[in-house]
Amino acid sequence: MTVRMKMFLLECPRCHNRMKYQPAKASGSATTAADVSKKVKKCVYCNFSMNVQKSVVQKV
Ligand SMILES: [Zn+2]
Repeated sequence: MTVRMKMFLLECPRCHNRMKYQPAKASGSATTAADVSKKVKKCVYCNFSMNVQKSVVQKV
């Protein structure tokens, strides 16, 4: 069984730059949409903490 790595394209709500985000895989369980909804990522451009689910523009 092959594990597919999920990547998301996020857009920062403050500076509107886009960046890829790869959720850290929880040990022993697959990453689900519910996991992502709780995640927060800091923008690599302006350091703004954004809600991952609200900032997703594309799943890659
Ligand atoms: Zn930003």
